[in-house]
Amino acid sequence: MRRPIIAGNWKMNNTIKEAVELVNGLKRELVDVNSVDIVVSPPFTALSDVNELIMDSNIKLSAQNVYWQEKGAFTGEVSTAMLKDAGCSYVIVGQSERRQYFNETNETVNKRLKAALAGKMQVIVCVGEVLEEREANKAFDVIKEQVQGSLQGISSLDINNVVLAYEPVWAIGTGKTASAEQAQEIHHYIRGLLKDIFDEERASEVRIQYGGSVKPDNVKELMQKEDVDGALVGGASLKIDSFSAIVKGAV
Ligand code: PEP
Repeated sequence: MRRPIIAGNWKMNNTIKEAVELVNGLKRELVDVNSVDIVVSPPFTALSDVNELIMDSNIKLSAQNVYWQEKGAFTGEVSTAMLKDAGCSYVIVGQSERRQYFNETNETVNKRLKAALAGKMQVIVCVGEVLEEREANKAFDVIKEQVQGSLQGISSLDINNVVLAYEPVWAIGTGKTASAEQAQEIHHYIRGLLKDIFDEERASEVRIQYGGSVKPDNVKELMQKEDVDGALVGGASLKIDSFSAIVKGAV
């Protein structure tokens, strides 16, 4: 049985004060939830303060990116050791905004992934096609290239610490959700790719989240699909009510 995982990607939102208010509210609302992994991903500036508040709770801390070098002259970058020092046990890599606006490629995603896994972090690896690719019937090819490229050289032991997130780019922040059937179709395909790279047992253990305009009113239907094991939530993770309702909807 794969344990559901709901992660909130706060993106470039929330001052420290706002982050503290949000996480205090989430702690209060979600205190009794123990059958879902709950993850929040504040901006770097709020990580330590959020960590202080959730340290002894059922909420885990994630960063939104990591650099692959250990230290040195890499202005603006943050290493695995620094994230762990701030309290992160998770990190997200390859989210579509990184791919779209910051030249992220499967190769750089792979480097980030390897660095984070070497530091024993749990890593959420995002993949997803853009609208033109879906309309040109290229979604499967794109997903295959992203999954294989991002996971290049990852061992079958390390894949236990990876969560994949299927996020169709056309559904991110647009209010358009993939239908539960569309999500299941790609999730099932991803699990098949994992089977080819690793083996059937490993593939059956890896959790695959759906991301793209997940809301309290669509999470249940998505979660009912066999290969949908959770959600990566952007906009709706910024409000106590909506993120709590999504987590509870995944129970
Ligand atoms: C995301 O940021 O990864 C995301 C899925 O955003 P939203 O839920 O706002 O579509």
